[in-house]
Amino acid sequence: QDVSAMTHSDAATAIQPLVDQLNQWRREYYDQDAPTVDDHEYDMAYQRLLAIEAKYPDLVLPDSPSQAVGGSVDTDFVKVPHPIPMLSMGDVFSLEELEEWAERLEGGVEEQVDYNVELKIDGLSLSLVYENGKLVQGSTRGDGNVGEDVTANVMTIKDIPHELKQPLNIEVRGECYMPKKAFAKLNAAREAQGLATFANPRNAAAGSLRQLDPKVTKARELATFIYTLIDPERFNIETQHDAIAFMQDLGFVTNPSSITTGDLKQMDSYIATQTADRDALAYGIDGIVVKVNSLPLQQELGNTVKVPRWEIAYKFPPEQAETVVRDIDWTI
Ligand code: NAD
Repeated sequence: QDVSAMTHSDAATAIQPLVDQLNQWRREYYDQDAPTVDDHEYDMAYQRLLAIEAKYPDLVLPDSPSQAVGGSVDTDFVKVPHPIPMLSMGDVFSLEELEEWAERLEGGVEEQVDYNVELKIDGLSLSLVYENGKLVQGSTRGDGNVGEDVTANVMTIKDIPHELKQPLNIEVRGECYMPKKAFAKLNAAREAQGLATFANPRNAAAGSLRQLDPKVTKARELATFIYTLIDPERFNIETQHDAIAFMQDLGFVTNPSSITTGDLKQMDSYIATQTADRDALAYGIDGIVVKVNSLPLQQELGNTVKVPRWEIAYKFPPEQAETVVRDIDWTI
């Protein structure tokens, strides 16, 4: 049933089964690294839930996925609190929706807004803490407020510096991912051994980082792109663009494809190019992230319980192959 036609009583009946279904998919995806539906199907069901909740806010259930970030924290790992929460991100699914988001945001602020537009790497978020320039802790996002200590595993990831070029106390965040080649190799090896294969590189990366034996992680050939600098004002950094350059200078791998622009048409053409070229990349991306470039403005805009107001993910439509399979009329 179309959400706009739902009465309050229709919505009240529909909402709990929808929340239960989404929560089951989330457990499979975040906790078991074994999704049973593709991301687009999950995203569409989640958007339906958001639409029902927006229409009838009194029906928002305490266990709604709109109120929580990510998965649970595996008790096999030491817990790491995130004083600055590691959040999720709002989604849009078309350029029209993206422009509406930007126009709404710009309508609420005085200044001219520039955006840093980045690839959305299909991995899992990682926090890295350095003391005097030395890597001391790596942790997962977990439920956003508490993550899992994966320091020993992080130490085995080749592109993460153990020592920075300056002896700073610093926290950075970014994406840990499995390159497409490593993913193909891993699944081929697992198949040969009669083991279950991973559904996609994202789940393989998550399963590989959250391992009790760092030797297993090391063999999985994970890699990173770092994109968030915590407390940038300590370094007099005022834009996301400069934060990325600063982190690169410290020795982190940052993604080379981002652009900074205030022109929505330029943003659209960047998105069109990246969408067309995505298969040629050595790693998976599941969309484009648009971030307000000014860090003081990001602070001012703040966050909801679940997502920052200053960034949005433009999600790619599902891969062509999947669409074709779904569109086949099997009765012919
Ligand atoms: P998200 O993955 O949609 O977006 C937030 C994440 O994007 C951040 O935590 C960060 O890790 C990542 N990211 C990648 N590149 C980034 C960049 N350049 N800058 C900033 N962040 C970047 O949100 P989420 O809450 O982690 O996950 C929700 C998504 O997970 C859903 O939209 C769905 O696609 C997928 N999911 C799928 C299933 C399933 O069963 N298939 C279940 C649950 C969730």
